[in-house]
Amino acid sequence: MSDVPLLRDTERTTGRSALQNNIQAAMALASAVRSTLGPSGLDKLLIDDDGRTLVTNDGVTVLESAKVEHPVARMMINASSIQDKIARDGTTSTVLLSAEMLQNSWHLVTQGVHPAIIARGFRMAEEHVRELLGSLALNSSREQLLQATKTSLSGKGHEAMQSLLATLALDAAQAVRFDDASGTSADPTRVKVLPQAGGSIQDTRLVTGLVLAKNRIHQEMPRSIGSGKILLIDGGIERRALMSDMKINVTSTGVLDSFRKKEIELLQQQVEHIKSLGVSLLACKEGVDDEARVLLNEAGIQAFRRVARSDLDLLARGCGATLVHDVQRSTSKDLGAFISSKNENWAGVVHWIVETEEGGATLIACGSTETIVGEVERSFADALGVACRLVEDDRLLPGGGATHVALARRLRRFAESIPGREQLGAEAFADALEVIPRVLAENAGLDPIDTLLKLVAAQSNGGADADQIGLNVLARNPSNMVESGVLEPYGIAFQSIAGATEAAISILRIDDVLWARQDPAMAEVPEMD
Ligand code: ADP
Ligand code: MG
Repeated sequence: MSDVPLLRDTERTTGRSALQNNIQAAMALASAVRSTLGPSGLDKLLIDDDGRTLVTNDGVTVLESAKVEHPVARMMINASSIQDKIARDGTTSTVLLSAEMLQNSWHLVTQGVHPAIIARGFRMAEEHVRELLGSLALNSSREQLLQATKTSLSGKGHEAMQSLLATLALDAAQAVRFDDASGTSADPTRVKVLPQAGGSIQDTRLVTGLVLAKNRIHQEMPRSIGSGKILLIDGGIERRALMSDMKINVTSTGVLDSFRKKEIELLQQQVEHIKSLGVSLLACKEGVDDEARVLLNEAGIQAFRRVARSDLDLLARGCGATLVHDVQRSTSKDLGAFISSKNENWAGVVHWIVETEEGGATLIACGSTETIVGEVERSFADALGVACRLVEDDRLLPGGGATHVALARRLRRFAESIPGREQLGAEAFADALEVIPRVLAENAGLDPIDTLLKLVAAQSNGGADADQIGLNVLARNPSNMVESGVLEPYGIAFQSIAGATEAAISILRIDDVLWARQDPAMAEVPEMD
């Protein structure tokens, strides 16, 4: 309990014991994902509250599903989640690096070095890493981009699936590539994934345009149409549903008839309005009344109903259209443009394929069971995220710990030039980078210390490309990672080191932890009689 009266209801740990406690939490968290790193990493079986199971090798998935209350552990999980959002990969590495930085700091703290000085040393090292990474980066060929995308899938699924998904992800990223004055970007959310259980993983393919498992609402509507205008309705073309407590007073014969007539007139007016806008393709979120269906067919419009809101959004973005709520109020400004729209029969299921000016693509994710399709979907999402980042920045770095060892070697030299105690922080930072090759070796069943020593020796004795020597986990030996095709996007390695440093520094700076004490009497609301 705290001795300060004001903080009587607060659990408090300060100074060294707070730091020690926080570092222990960070290390405990890192140990939960350590064994998943790299292509030989093992899987984790996750079981949620409802008993649903998921087998995964993905660090961030493991961490995000953990019910962790320790605030420092949560900070580490956040660092990993941010890495996932920004770079789509490198989540395990981020947590391992951060925990290692903290562990090394603890050794310095026990020797009397103040955490704030260590943090400053970390910051200096990180700034130097930014320069070094730029000089280690390589320009890439398409083949190498493919290898980098494939490396990001290491440990997920088998080889053939990784190659296929890496190729498809690169193609998909190109399909959503967008160039403007501020540079090139690719938005992975513009790629739709259509799961299809049945068949094999090898049937998984990419289709240009947006694909929906939908048939047009009238068989006589044109099956395939060329370019034209599209209207997207965030609703339906239906008769107004009667409210449950609504009454119609039938006072004379014909009242009901005229009521119905009025309703049909309203539907006619809506279709007339759509016709007058020159629309040839229509998609509604809700239903289309039978009467309107016939009229739309007569007008030669291809129409679809019960289109999911997410698909309508994709259509809107692809065609440059705005979703309208009220058909009568829609104007030509709300319309979008498409290149072609057709219905095709694929293995007995009718699909609707729309091609638009703004590109867009659909992955048809196949697999023999739903679980396998789910795995294909998740792996593709990861590969696509990486491929999209590569569209924005196609520089690559050697993987397999090569870059981390090269950085550590240079950082140690840099640290020597720092006169103050910050030097010790920069050295601790350099040592921490080596956790990546050590854990890769550990997970491959190799001795981590011997492997690291071999790598350092090979890099310092090697020739011009010595910085590219890393641990080829599959060959179980140090080798040139560029030749072995183990490459990583520059952005991922950079972000993972930056994110890990950020998390480590903010944890180092905490020297007081105040926990609000739970009042047992307040824990539950008392029951009323
Ligand atoms: P993260 O969540 O950090 O991306 P991964 O489990 O995906 O963790 O492992 C990524 C690490 O595995 C990277 O350091 C990468 O260079 C390394 N890696 C991938 N394939 C190989 C390989 N064939 N040989 C050695 N290292 C590899
Ligand atoms: Mg990865």
